[in-house]
Amino acid sequence: MIENNGVVLVLSGPSGAGKSSLINKISDEIGDFHFSLSSTTRKKREGEIEGVHYHFISQEDFEKDIEDDNFLEYARVHGNYYGTSLSPVRKALSEGKLVIFDIDVQGNMAIKNRLGDITTSVFITPPTLSELKNRLQKRSTDTQEIIDGRIEVARREIQRAAEYDFLIINDDLDVAAKVLKQIALTARLKIPHKMINEFVQKWEDIKE
Ligand code: 5GP
Repeated sequence: MIENNGVVLVLSGPSGAGKSSLINKISDEIGDFHFSLSSTTRKKREGEIEGVHYHFISQEDFEKDIEDDNFLEYARVHGNYYGTSLSPVRKALSEGKLVIFDIDVQGNMAIKNRLGDITTSVFITPPTLSELKNRLQKRSTDTQEIIDGRIEVARREIQRAAEYDFLIINDDLDVAAKVLKQIALTARLKIPHKMINEFVQKWEDIKE
């Protein structure tokens, strides 16, 4: 196990669900956290900044990182690679931080398998498919082909929403942010199995 006292909060849901807006909204109210910056081979969208939204790397570099076992998890989404580098996550966990991931359903499963006992997962979605379509059209930084691809992925991904601990229907941003804040604060209370077992072993000998 790579964790120490840190815990994990996984956020998934379609592009356009409002994950980034929600994180921004609650970022001052959930204590010290580390946002896991993913690497991707997809092209930068307008307004995106290297090192803030993603590490934008070449396919060649990504494949080298896969070979070198540098990823905690990675997946192909919308025809591009996306992945989470292991070392910053390991560092943040060892510092006892809440580590927040914005990853897809494949990534959630991978994290659940590796760090399940310290992970809380949330699927975030707009209330309806047509609302998702509206939001993606309004954002208009992508071509119609890319938007259609995102909608197809969203229709597939929502079928797996029951794999998550929580579902947030992001209809009203303020309400959704309140719910996410509660979940993030509760996620901090998770105790790794290893620590629970250590406590149990000592329990009979602990004097009041
Ligand atoms: P976008 O291109 O809209 O930024 O992200 C597309 C999808 O990739 C989203 O569902 C997002 O959650 C997912 N994603 C972003 N980073 C990662 C990652 O490191 N690993 C995995 N598995 N999915 C990711």
